[in-house]
Amino acid sequence: MRYALIGDIHGNLEAFDAVLASIEQEHVDQILCVGDIVGYGANPVECIDLVKEKCTKVVAGNHDYAAIGLTDVDYFNPFAKDALLWTSERLSEKEINYLASLKLMEREDSFTMVHATLSNPRDWGYILNTFDAAMNFELQVDPICFVGHSHGPVVYMKRENFISGHRFVSKIEAGCQYIINVGSVGQPRDGDYRASYVVFDLDLQTLKLKRVEYDVVKTQKKIMEAGLPQILADRLSIGR
Ligand code: ZN
Repeated sequence: MRYALIGDIHGNLEAFDAVLASIEQEHVDQILCVGDIVGYGANPVECIDLVKEKCTKVVAGNHDYAAIGLTDVDYFNPFAKDALLWTSERLSEKEINYLASLKLMEREDSFTMVHATLSNPRDWGYILNTFDAAMNFELQVDPICFVGHSHGPVVYMKRENFISGHRFVSKIEAGCQYIINVGSVGQPRDGDYRASYVVFDLDLQTLKLKRVEYDVVKTQKKIMEAGLPQILADRLSIGR
């Protein structure tokens, strides 16, 4: 079984389309999403429709819940909050019901998916270092936990009681546990503007981090035309 793991799409249809085209070439069996389909970008409805069509399992992100009133928008910075209010005005009952149906955590074969952290996932904490990772590993029963939320691909590995952080790894070692951040499709923040996703081969126990070019200028234009905050357009070209 081969999986593509995507997340933090954030209403960026151009990046999402480019990632789906790239996934086509990877011949995966399933596409899974670690949340934040909406927020920031100009195409929330189109991105929800595509996720519904393409993804077999999806967990809720903080923006997905906030757009429908399940997480307080005051938790967000002013630009994110503006974009969330803009987004929620565009969702019909169909999209609202879909986002409301998303769970905070899903399990598949030998892995777990959660947007933020396994400890109180609805508090939307971040896994940014080995200390945060240790708290997550405490609650992690599967060998792998796929996460999103920080918009930067990274891997934390636990071998016996030692936890290490890695830019990425290509092989899952037996007896070890992993937290794998799949990066962001629609708003990367690791200094690389290209969309990010991960291919996981369950049988071979291999991982691949993929970066995909997309039409950033077109996305920026749409954000400006929608009247969304300029910074949300600007940051896309520098991946911050
Ligand atoms: Zn996000």
